Amino acid sequence: MTINQSGWRPESPAQGNDPADVPTYTGNKALMLEEPLLFEIGDIGRTGVDLGERPRGESRLGGLERNRSIGLPGLTEPEAVRHYTRLSRQNYAIDLGLFPLGSCTMKHNPRLNERIARLPGFADIHPLAPIDTVQGALALIHLVGEWLKTLTGMPGIAMSPKAGAHGELCGLLAIRAALEARGDARQVVLVPESAHGTNPATAAFCGYAVENIPATDEGRVDLAALQARLGTDVAAVMITNPNTCGLFERDMIAIAEAVHAAGAFLYCDGANFNAIVGRVRPGDLGVDAMHINLHKTFSTPHGGGGPGAGPVVFSEALAPYAPLPFVEKQGEHFVLVEEETAAEHHGGAFGRMVAFHGQMGMFTRAAAYMLSHGADGLRQVSGDAVLAANYILRSLDDVLVAPFGASGPCMHEALFSDEGLAGGLSTIDIAKGLIDEGFHPMTMYFPLVVHGAMLIEPTETESKGALDQFIGALRSVAERAKAGDASLKTAPVHAPRRRLDETAAARKPVLVWKEPVQSQAAAE
Ligand SMILES: *Cc1c(COP(=O)(O)O)cnc(C)c1O
Repeated sequence: MTINQSGWRPESPAQGNDPADVPTYTGNKALMLEEPLLFEIGDIGRTGVDLGERPRGESRLGGLERNRSIGLPGLTEPEAVRHYTRLSRQNYAIDLGLFPLGSCTMKHNPRLNERIARLPGFADIHPLAPIDTVQGALALIHLVGEWLKTLTGMPGIAMSPKAGAHGELCGLLAIRAALEARGDARQVVLVPESAHGTNPATAAFCGYAVENIPATDEGRVDLAALQARLGTDVAAVMITNPNTCGLFERDMIAIAEAVHAAGAFLYCDGANFNAIVGRVRPGDLGVDAMHINLHKTFSTPHGGGGPGAGPVVFSEALAPYAPLPFVEKQGEHFVLVEEETAAEHHGGAFGRMVAFHGQMGMFTRAAAYMLSHGADGLRQVSGDAVLAANYILRSLDDVLVAPFGASGPCMHEALFSDEGLAGGLSTIDIAKGLIDEGFHPMTMYFPLVVHGAMLIEPTETESKGALDQFIGALRSVAERAKAGDASLKTAPVHAPRRRLDETAAARKPVLVWKEPVQSQAAAE
């Protein structure tokens, strides 16, 4: 794309005789609108508002005031509004279509949740408001915590962590506090190959040495290898269950027994709780700590960096080390247990994860979701999610290779490899072909244990019609890839931008706008 003073110009000149190839003056294609940067639309010398002359007074900044232009472009209000609206239309969103991303649980967020989250009594309160004035909000945080404890069969909870990875950090800090309390300085955390990437990252961030445990040919943790490695230097084992191959770790109880016998703790990454909620209680499997992504299982929208919440549930052994603050019910009153009040009965708390109490908006959405589904409804969520994933797996395993297809039904996500694609074509070409079909691509090249992995999680909120349309689209692209259709190498062809150099974009991102050299002015 090039730009000159009169606006956008399409990237390539007309080819062939198809009128659709003739570039438009604006670069727009009907309702597909091009959008330059704010700096290119606006003008640093321009302002969108009329303000009177600033009254001259004595500066009280002691010479620290800004002495150069701030360099921000001025725009009219419609220009500013249109800019962001146009950009938002170029985004793929769960409200536009199915989001097949595996490992992310991109599911529809019922509008009821939004309505409840916007109630001013929840949305407009201040974290420092006197406790007596926010009893309803504390009651709601407490309620969500009780549901999570019941659903997981675990007695302790920390509501404050703000994401799954933050929950992992919270869990490992509690484990470290418990080990320190017994004077045990273990240094190693074991992480199986089928774990989510945040697990080893969290362990390393906490200062532990991370060691890998291999997966079996079935795509599950190799129990014998785990048992062989356990010892007095191992602080914890982090297991993702259901794992990132979309499989349930059937040996979980044996794993927990082995971990505990070695004096270590079992951390479970519960981001995939969507597949088992209402059916399996991780506490019954021997888990010591597990985070739950409210922004996955309990429907809060995420992606694009929106806020999340990663509450952590704890076993009896770890509950005393859970962080502050937390909500406690005393009679009919809700209190926040803080440093000043914790000493009496929660002296083991390892500290705090965040300044305040966590993400109120996520708690409200989760509460609305839980209460509107009820226990039986949540059980149906996991049943329908698993059914949808198996429908995708079995509808496509004749055209794509499912590496663990023989390991029995999958859980919430279907996994394929790039085996059998024609030479030169790979997973990325299928993903780009899906963009032309109007879908966000699936998760690619993850998990690492599968060559050219394609990981697809449909969730329970998609209808059979929506699943069939996605299956049809992926089937047609996969068939082209198997037949060696080289045009896939140039996909996407219908997107606003063609195939981008993603490596360069990641390694050499251009994050600063530089004013283009005005060639016309230079010539004059
Ligand atoms: C999403 C996810 C995480 C990380 O959660 P964030 O909220 O993105 O930090 C960890 N583990 C698994 C299995 C996940 O799917």
